[in-house]
Amino acid sequence: MRDPAAKCWQLLLVIGIASACSGSDARVVDDAALSDESRGEDWLAFGRTLNEQRFSPLQQIDTANVKDLKVDWFIDLPDKSGLVSTPLVSNGVLYFIGSMNRVRAVDATSGRLIWTYDPRVTEQAGDRMRVGWDHNRGIALWRDKVILATWDGRLIGVDAATGREQWSTMTVDPTKALYITGAPKVFKDKVIIGNGGTEQGATRGYVTAYDAATGKQAWRFYIVPGNPADGFENAAMEMAAKTWTGEWWKFGGGGNAWHGFTYDAELDRLYIGTGNGSPWNRKIRSPGGGDNLFLSSIVALNPDNGEYIWHYQTAPGESWDYNSNMDIVLADLPLGGRTVKAILHAPKNGFFYVIDRETGKLISADAFTTTTWATSIDSVTGRPNENPAARYEHGSAIVIPGPVGAHNWHAMSFNPQTGLAYYPAIHMSYTFSDSGIDLATWKSPIWKRGTGTAAASATSGAGSSRSDGVVGSLQAWDPVRRKLAWEVPLDGFWNPGTMTSAGNLVFQGRADGNFVAYDATSGAELWRFNVGSGISAPPITYSVAGRQYVALLVGWGGAGAAIGGPLIAAHGWAYGAQPRRLIAFSLNGTAVLPPSPPPVVVSPLPAREFGVNALLAEQGRVEFAERCGGCHGGGAMSGGITPDLRASGVVLSETGFADVVRGGSRVSSGMPAYRQITDDKLLALRHYIRQRAEAALTKPPK
Ligand code: CA
Repeated sequence: MRDPAAKCWQLLLVIGIASACSGSDARVVDDAALSDESRGEDWLAFGRTLNEQRFSPLQQIDTANVKDLKVDWFIDLPDKSGLVSTPLVSNGVLYFIGSMNRVRAVDATSGRLIWTYDPRVTEQAGDRMRVGWDHNRGIALWRDKVILATWDGRLIGVDAATGREQWSTMTVDPTKALYITGAPKVFKDKVIIGNGGTEQGATRGYVTAYDAATGKQAWRFYIVPGNPADGFENAAMEMAAKTWTGEWWKFGGGGNAWHGFTYDAELDRLYIGTGNGSPWNRKIRSPGGGDNLFLSSIVALNPDNGEYIWHYQTAPGESWDYNSNMDIVLADLPLGGRTVKAILHAPKNGFFYVIDRETGKLISADAFTTTTWATSIDSVTGRPNENPAARYEHGSAIVIPGPVGAHNWHAMSFNPQTGLAYYPAIHMSYTFSDSGIDLATWKSPIWKRGTGTAAASATSGAGSSRSDGVVGSLQAWDPVRRKLAWEVPLDGFWNPGTMTSAGNLVFQGRADGNFVAYDATSGAELWRFNVGSGISAPPITYSVAGRQYVALLVGWGGAGAAIGGPLIAAHGWAYGAQPRRLIAFSLNGTAVLPPSPPPVVVSPLPAREFGVNALLAEQGRVEFAERCGGCHGGGAMSGGITPDLRASGVVLSETGFADVVRGGSRVSSGMPAYRQITDDKLLALRHYIRQRAEAALTKPPK
């Protein structure tokens, strides 16, 4: 009993080349393969198949035997930055994108390296390193190619057998602060990608489809209207412009689509999850009000030409970074005596949406965490019943959820057998304020952060929004009964995504370094394994030669890790302290993981002789928040994807600090060069960082 994948694996073992797997009995990755739910051997797409359910029909590993799951193989990875991506498996080869956007192909039964492709992003990214991160959530497989998108905005086709570059297309204007962390998605010989950058400039979001064979542009859809004086690209933009006021185009408008794209093969439609406003503050970008289409929406497009079909907006007049970029999962639900072709969507704003994907009409929306910005979603109009105070009209307002959301990009899975959706929820409040900001003269930032709200990290002033103090949980949501089926409180708020299987299991890594399997029906914990480092990537499962594997990347990362601060730093995943790995588990595993260094909370460097000047430190505070805090952490407390500057000796040295920040001596590690920065600003930054170090030395944070 040998299936084609098994034969392929044997060939691979004997002759040692991956091209053995492109033989006649190997499966071609095309629309039919990407839609085939029945075949559990492979994990061909970001969400396993086109419906994005992350549900595997494999059942060798089940609720009875998962307690025996052991490490089958692992590989150590040489990188220090975050690993957040979903690996793909085809014909016994596992492909994944890691730090610095390097893509690797490894033998899915041993981890043996077949090839590495390095897009050399730090040489290409330039100033883009100031506004984004190198972490990337995934790649696409299409026929003979692996397709990736890079930090600096390229979309690249690579030969799946050899790792050689076949085509490369720049998808962004390099003069704009746009970058890519998302996974390209393929459908009908095309590949779609968007970008991020809403908070770092006057950006106008768009998605573009390219020919998957050549990288040639097929079509582009803008998410928000441009200047009416330039004419509208299409009727949808003309319609959208009626929902904007003032001179929004001067601020770009935003709406950047950086994550959720789903192709619906049944209805032949493409769904795009769109981003928040640029800037966040609607009083600036659209001062006369308005819904501001197509911000924070799901937009259905014709996959052949990018023409608008329908939209559903989750946060009209968005003002809280409540984007709708999260996963768009397709499921058939038994509702009202019929089967509804539904979209399941749990965006940042805290409501779980069920949308009829034939019409774009709301079926239900229910809060899965506390939501103070809106009490409910009107089932007739589909609009939120808003709390007017949430729009910080008179200074500041404490709002739930905060800008990291009630759910972020971390993968949501759906199990058609239990009827439940599984995702990590976040329970935090945030203080929004535009006190001290001149709304009439505010200008979009250039190559730095600016949201039209008071400069603060995404978790500042934030705390748990629950009486039990929990900031994160794993939730199992029943979209038919419209309520939680079960919930598991978790440590920290930045917990990764899930995978579910026909073995009636849900797998989830955790921010605290535990990889856990649950009973999909009850939520009972059935197995856990401590991987010795923070997990930010979702797991997958696949099968080769009759053995089911569960695999995931281990490497703390993503924007939540980047923003740092006490809640994140408390995990102890300090920069470079713990190893980055790819680990595969099976019921027959015999590999032994070397022990990881324990979690470590960084100790600031004592240097009282530096002599902090409070006035200089205050100048440095603003500079740090706009330029440095997005990677080195709010309040100069790193979340672990960068060095904690409070512990850095470089900060003590005028020439050493200038060499790194202005001279660009660490560009290859991802630290951008600020060639134009003045001596005064360098000095102010050093005083701010030292002030934060001294404050922590005097009174360590709880
Ligand atoms: Ca945003």
